[in-house]
Amino acid sequence: MKTLKFLFDRNQGWADAIKKDNPHFFSQLSAQQTPDYLWIGCSDSRVPANQIVDLPPGEVFVHRNIANVVVHTDLNCLSVVQFAVEVLKVKHIIICGHYGCGGIKASLDQKAHGLIDNWLRHIQDVSRFHQKELSLLNDEDRINRLCELNVIEQVKNVGNSSVVQNAWKRDAELSLHGWIYSIENGMLKDLDMCIETAEALDKKCRL
Ligand SMILES: [Zn+2]
Repeated sequence: MKTLKFLFDRNQGWADAIKKDNPHFFSQLSAQQTPDYLWIGCSDSRVPANQIVDLPPGEVFVHRNIANVVVHTDLNCLSVVQFAVEVLKVKHIIICGHYGCGGIKASLDQKAHGLIDNWLRHIQDVSRFHQKELSLLNDEDRINRLCELNVIEQVKNVGNSSVVQNAWKRDAELSLHGWIYSIENGMLKDLDMCIETAEALDKKCRL
């Protein structure tokens, strides 16, 4: 008897439905993956990468962590970025945050949360960079603006990584994007962080 049998039943139904539509789907997919997109998003269960942009398996390479943070010492995230850029040769890296992010809220609430507080320090750094703007907002607006600012800062972080900088040096076609998702209405918003060159990144970082 399998544990969590109902999930295996759901898996069977899902695979059957896809094969009914395209009998060769899984055999073709098993031969190779050629995704154009690397998605770096929040671990929140309500923000599933493929479903939000309505893309099937094989189209999006995904890394998720609490509050979609790119840290220059995080070997897990950087390895994903390296593999995506240098081996899979993705053309786009999307950093996608979401409004009402629990990680962002926790970073602002001055309470102790255990081990995760070390991770949330990275978001508190973002708050510090933008303290003046954030201090003018009410609590709800401050959380949501920090969700946006965190995406913007993480786009800069991934752009300044050696992997992305080296890709641009060899003229690889690689764009960065900063998006934010609303759990309340299912819609994505573009935060105008589409960056295609090291020079464009420098310009954004100086603004
Ligand atoms: Zn989140």
